[in-house]
Amino acid sequence: MTRPLLMIPGPIELSPAVQAAVDGPPPSHVAPAVIQAFGDGLRRMRTVWGATDDSAPFAVAGSGTLAMDAAVANLVAPGDRALVVHTGYFSARMADMLRRRGAVVDVLAAEPGHAPDAEALTARLEATPADLVFITHVDTSTGVLVDLPGLAAAVRATDALLIVDGVCATGAERTDMAALGADVVLTASQKAIGLPPGLALWVASPRALARRDALTAPVPMFLDWQVWRPILTAYEEGRPSYFATPATPLIRALPVALDEIADVDAVHARHVDAARRLRAAWTALDLRLLPGDGLAAHTLSALWIPEGHDATLPAKVAAHGVIIAGGLLPELRSRYVRVGHMGYSTTRPDHLARTVEAIAHALGRDPRPALDALGG
Ligand SMILES: *Cc1c(COP(=O)(O)O)cnc(C)c1O
Repeated sequence: MTRPLLMIPGPIELSPAVQAAVDGPPPSHVAPAVIQAFGDGLRRMRTVWGATDDSAPFAVAGSGTLAMDAAVANLVAPGDRALVVHTGYFSARMADMLRRRGAVVDVLAAEPGHAPDAEALTARLEATPADLVFITHVDTSTGVLVDLPGLAAAVRATDALLIVDGVCATGAERTDMAALGADVVLTASQKAIGLPPGLALWVASPRALARRDALTAPVPMFLDWQVWRPILTAYEEGRPSYFATPATPLIRALPVALDEIADVDAVHARHVDAARRLRAAWTALDLRLLPGDGLAAHTLSALWIPEGHDATLPAKVAAHGVIIAGGLLPELRSRYVRVGHMGYSTTRPDHLARTVEAIAHALGRDPRPALDALGG
């Protein structure tokens, strides 16, 4: 049997070019090719993020959670008022991090599968002003995509900083950091960026950098933006630099992966198309989405497990050669599954077809109507 296809919400299947760039012995962090790739990668992050030239891109060894912790450590002083727009598991993680930092945390929540809208956010910020607002662009636990432009405008009407968790969104959903007026947009290499796991990636606005510079509360050294900025600036300027060893194989592949998603409108359109076709296939299989109408992300599908089946469904799908994920939201964990559809696999109709076929077989259904609905 061929290698199973990885269709979870990260890590994802790699493109051949990214795989080739990652493969091989790890280079030195001061090898000329690594310095070049690091600089190119950081510059291309601004393009993919839609960020201004005076914003600062960061690429640090770690996962998305490290980028979240870094945002909290650099922007929040104990006693600051933080509002978390809560759409699921990762919003809850963000609120927990903020409480650990000593922030006064307010939560604007919605039922699982739903999301607070701009009106609700405006009303909450009027009733309970905040210094910082944290929004999860796509909550990977529920497959919900928030109305980021609407929510960002509501935040912009106040003085609060806006921090966007774009893990599972940035590089696939529309993320125009400058147009949104976002102060931090963070993600991880293994989601829509299309690299293996191992890099925490974020871009900070000049306003966010100024906030860090004004912070007097101590920041753990590895997380400190002030420690990293001269290092990353050096790489952008083509000079070797060292603070803590970069994940050099991933840095070598960073500009390759970002190049593949640099045409952000076309890449977004491709994800929308893949999601639309997969939804038609889910409907043909009688599967229902967890997210409410108009709220489903284009990067993954959270699907209710149908009558007569249970939480063993991912294992049954795996027996047909495709890896999908189980539920993540504690209260509903055993009642739904998650199928990732981001990055390279959205360029591969055969990946989407294999996924639909494996799920149909695992459910004991005829795959043909679903494959017809999926289209070529
Ligand atoms: C995956 C994910 C994270 C955590 O990223 P890790 O790389 O697993 O640490 C955070 N937020 C969202 C929305 C995610 O999808």
